Amino acid sequence: MSTLSQSPSFDKSSFTFENSYACLPERFFQRTLPVPVKTPNLIYLNRGLVEELGLNPDLFHGENGAAIFSGNLIPSGADPIALAYGGHQFGHFVPQLGDGRAVLLGEILDANGKRWDIQLKGSGQTTFSRSGDGRAALGPVMREYILSEAMHALGIPTNRSLALVTTGEDVFRENILPGAILTRVASSHVRVGTFEFFAARKDIEAIKLLADYAINRLYPKVKCAENPYLTFIECVIDAQASLIAGWMHVGFIHGVMNTDNMAISGETIDYGPCAFMDAYDPMTVYSSIDHSGRYAYANQGKIGQWNLASLVECLLPLLGKDEKKTVSPAKEIIEEFSNKFSAYWLRGMRGKLGLVTACKEDTFIVQQLLDLMQKHGADYTIVFRQLCDAVNRKSNIGKLTKIFSGDRLWVDWLARWHQRLEQETRAPEEIAESMRCINPIFIPRNHLIEQAINSAVEKNDFSPMDTLQELLATPYSDQPSYSEYANSPKPEERIYQTFCGT
Ligand code: AMP
Ligand code: MG
Repeated sequence: MSTLSQSPSFDKSSFTFENSYACLPERFFQRTLPVPVKTPNLIYLNRGLVEELGLNPDLFHGENGAAIFSGNLIPSGADPIALAYGGHQFGHFVPQLGDGRAVLLGEILDANGKRWDIQLKGSGQTTFSRSGDGRAALGPVMREYILSEAMHALGIPTNRSLALVTTGEDVFRENILPGAILTRVASSHVRVGTFEFFAARKDIEAIKLLADYAINRLYPKVKCAENPYLTFIECVIDAQASLIAGWMHVGFIHGVMNTDNMAISGETIDYGPCAFMDAYDPMTVYSSIDHSGRYAYANQGKIGQWNLASLVECLLPLLGKDEKKTVSPAKEIIEEFSNKFSAYWLRGMRGKLGLVTACKEDTFIVQQLLDLMQKHGADYTIVFRQLCDAVNRKSNIGKLTKIFSGDRLWVDWLARWHQRLEQETRAPEEIAESMRCINPIFIPRNHLIEQAINSAVEKNDFSPMDTLQELLATPYSDQPSYSEYANSPKPEERIYQTFCGT
């Protein structure tokens, strides 16, 4: 473990850090320096994000960038800390988890005054590492980089990836793997599990400080509300309901929705064994550690609610002194999650089918289509994208006909959908165009990610990852030169399990 007694090198000009989290009391974190690595090599610098954050890309080139994003060179003004948190892992409470392999260098403000955490993941042991080595292997780091940036391009809230550095050191898992460090950028790394850490210690003062911190940073408008803490909970619930519905719309399965992996900001964080579904099946699970299917695709809404109930429980002491008066509004708020989630889900599914008006039968129409997809093992992304070309009754829908070959129910469904579309006021071409902005053609499919990882790990060839990044940056645009990347995997390419690689 590296401590502040070591004297690191300091870089003078790269970031202008603020350290609001490090100003909280010491029990919120541990001051820790990244552990230097042998031969850092900057593989990716996310230039677009560098510019969005108002940073100067020239300061991050070559060796300097490699040194900064590996933790070998500490930007001046940084106050590196590992955050304390606990959490429910697969339903079991663990009172202390914390950043066991990550270090928050500090926060920066972008041109709009928005505050961003700059965090190194895979940066060595901390006080929270337990038996872990504090490191990350190249494969999972590539997976997180690709998926988080793809998620952003799809328009779904997520932490971002600023840089990927290989360390020149081996990481020992089931095999010996090359090590890497990811630089993550997030609105904040406060998690449901951060509140649980203090609730487990009955540290109400810390819960209040943390809630005030999260409100100030993430939901400042809440301060004017009659009961700010209740409104804060409502905001988090709303953000999570919208987020998880967004995942459902693009077929994303987070895979480890433990409360320590749920951000208060409503951003997707902690990409582990996550994956995008190919063939539609509501019970799809990829994660090798999710033996009971707790975090299966279709369970995500319910699990989100379960996690938020844990958050509300932590915040109960802030809602008022009289427990009888606080428990029932808190319960109502948790129950409200299902309504919000269903409403976001339905609104998005309507959009995917080109509908902006609301009709009672819409849920039924959506469900019938999903049932048909499941019955035929149809590719979720391809079916919705193909439907964009099927708005006009006269179009050639050969691909869809092939997918649902000879099924009478499909013919009936198509007729029902066309009838329903007639109730919309927009012209068919306008409807189709709107659908093309909602139904992606390109998603980060598992087999493509695996191919990119294998190529990098086995041949040090990152060109497949370059290609993936390029095509996933505009997932809603037809990119004819990349058309084969829109296909579902061939039987021999199918990936059935993903690993978190910790
Ligand atoms: P995760 O499954 O990545 O969400 O991590 C759960 C907990 O395990 C967190 O406290 C992580 O910091 C910790 N952890 C995961 N991998 C490692 C590792 N290689 N070394 C130390 N801690 C780790
Ligand atoms: Mg985690």
